[in-house]
Amino acid sequence: MLKGKTALVTGSTSGIGLAIAKALAQQGANIVLNGFGDAETPKAQIEALGVRAEYHGADMSQPGQIEDMMKFAASRFGRVDILVNNAGIQHVAKVEDFPPERWDAIIAINLTSAFHTTRLAIPAMREANWGRIINVASAHGLVASAQKSAYVAAKHGIVGFTKSVALETATTGITSNAICPGWVLTQLVQKQIDDRAAREGISATQAQNELLGEKQPSLQFTTVEQLGGLAVFLCSPAADQVRGVAWQMDGGWTAQ
Ligand code: NAD
Repeated sequence: MLKGKTALVTGSTSGIGLAIAKALAQQGANIVLNGFGDAETPKAQIEALGVRAEYHGADMSQPGQIEDMMKFAASRFGRVDILVNNAGIQHVAKVEDFPPERWDAIIAINLTSAFHTTRLAIPAMREANWGRIINVASAHGLVASAQKSAYVAAKHGIVGFTKSVALETATTGITSNAICPGWVLTQLVQKQIDDRAAREGISATQAQNELLGEKQPSLQFTTVEQLGGLAVFLCSPAADQVRGVAWQMDGGWTAQ
């Protein structure tokens, strides 16, 4: 379905971003990977699916490096057809204890980076009259939790940004949508489980059950593969008129 298209997925060396990159590659899209850590293994995994893969290590908190990544993608593949803004970090603390530099980093990586990639991707999408912008927000883009002020602000912000871009591109073949996962068992959440287990002196399994029990009525994690499937749907012709949505995949979290 996506043969000949190019998808750039930020933060795709692990977790949700890597799974979305794989799901799009399975549909034939070439992939530009980004993120920290080992990039060789994800690149080989994508290439094994029979498409081309490139990697750029831009730090999403640095606008200059983001510009460099977007130029790199254009030089390798002509343009970015599918932009997935996924890179994200978390920090858990009360507002009065929240380190200002962590606030700045969360807003830069989880929100502002999407402004930069989007503004740089849209001109070529407009020329082609086709494009897909998928922002990985969160249930925290729709409702709040205590001790996550920066994350909640960034995720609410990206849901609003998604809608503005959807309106600006409404008469074109470009769509802009957000995905709002609940708990997904990636390293970002594993850290919160481990911190909770240590803080409360309980096992990791108990901490995991408490985490799910508090927020996610299904008591099951959303899987990265399910999120990959949702991204593929948003890239399909069936989703041509899906514009500006914030699509929950959260086991009922935000239905409460
Ligand atoms: P993860 O830690 O496995 O992946 C995060 C990715 O972002 C990694 O590839 C990492 O290298 C990259 N990254 C971090 N800082 C970066 C930077 N400055 N520049 C470039 N890349 C950077 O976590 P994940 O759970 O897969 O998170 C992916 C996205 O999904 C995030 O936006 C997160 O907020 C969102 N999300 C996660 C959950 C969950 O339960 N795991 C729920 C809702 C939303």
